[in-house]
Amino acid sequence: MSISIIGKSIGESATLKLNEIAALLRQKGEPIIHLGGGEPKTRVPIDAITSLTGLLNTGEVRYTPVDGILELKQAIIRYTEEFYHRKVEPENVIVSGGVKQAIMVALQAILDPQDEVIFPSPYWVSYPDMIKLCGAIPVPVVPEDGTFYPRFQDIEQNITTYTKAIILNSPNNPTGALYSEKFISEIVQFCEKEGLYLIMDDIYHRLVFDGKKTVICYEHATDLSENSKIIAVNGVSKQYAMTGFRIGWAVANKKLIKVMSNIQGHQTAGPSVLLQKAALGALNGVQSGVESLRLTLENNRRVLMDQLNAFDGIKATKPDGTFYVFADFSVYDKDSVRLSKFLLDKVRVLAMPGKEFGLDGYLRLSTCGSIKDIIEGIERIKWALDPNSPNELYIGERKLVRDWL
Ligand code: PMP
Repeated sequence: MSISIIGKSIGESATLKLNEIAALLRQKGEPIIHLGGGEPKTRVPIDAITSLTGLLNTGEVRYTPVDGILELKQAIIRYTEEFYHRKVEPENVIVSGGVKQAIMVALQAILDPQDEVIFPSPYWVSYPDMIKLCGAIPVPVVPEDGTFYPRFQDIEQNITTYTKAIILNSPNNPTGALYSEKFISEIVQFCEKEGLYLIMDDIYHRLVFDGKKTVICYEHATDLSENSKIIAVNGVSKQYAMTGFRIGWAVANKKLIKVMSNIQGHQTAGPSVLLQKAALGALNGVQSGVESLRLTLENNRRVLMDQLNAFDGIKATKPDGTFYVFADFSVYDKDSVRLSKFLLDKVRVLAMPGKEFGLDGYLRLSTCGSIKDIIEGIERIKWALDPNSPNELYIGERKLVRDWL
């Protein structure tokens, strides 16, 4: 069978694959604890549901403009004013099928084959493959000081004549690191000076802890005209627990948004109008759900960090935001894919292998589940890895006996 070079270069999304395996095992009645999850368990805002069902009940569900319905764009404009202190126009906004598609069409609009895109490592799993889909080259940059907080010189050292764009995701999936004002400011100014695109993946920007605030990219830009090359992406998936609705957006200069819309028009056209209505309901509705999710996640982070701090040999940096803790398990196994598989096989706990995020030896653990799941999940992992733990473990009625170590 003849497959394209690009087709052959793209791997399956490892996180989605593991989610599927865990879901199948759960369906079979296996007592799975999902510590790998990238989605909150809270309910979708009622305003989203009312807005969606209002349209559904009319029985008229049609195509929308490729770049999204005007009312949703207006809600996004208000959102941009509130959270980015920036006034934009409808032509500066495109609504896409999730933040994933917003980033994808942005990359397709700006990249030529062989162009390079720089992003700090560890990184969100999809960036490298999305860049490869454009025939371009991903350039993950590991901070030289061994932390999860890149410095400007880390990025600068990797700039070449092929560099076309930088992607920043703060707070970061998988590390939870919130990038400093100094770092973002230096990157924004550097991109302006060098004429590089800067994609700000702000999908977790309201889910930050300890009273910290996400840095607003535009506040460090000198050029906010239609020449600006900042592409700010955001969406409803994480903050409103609406992952299944697949609505995200990008804000950028009008010319670029037009090109992105042309591309999207031939891929998927406008996202489903029902889902756009739901996103509209969430953005215009009662906002208390976002804060209560943030508080829950902050509390769950405390519980997970306490568990990990009491776990011999595990090193974990306290995240500033998101719903992940990226923990170093290399004392137990340097191969995170093998370790993740082992934990799922032996104690039915799903943790995402760090290798998929660019750093082997680590596991990404999620705080989206219940406190009970977090505590029991880490206890099961401890039992599986610690040679001094008792030979048996009960999961409900089921007795596990250690036949390894
Ligand atoms: N960016 C980051 C950093 C993410 O973690 C995710 C989802 N895991 C996305 C983008 C994609 O978001 P969406 O579900 O809205 O497509």
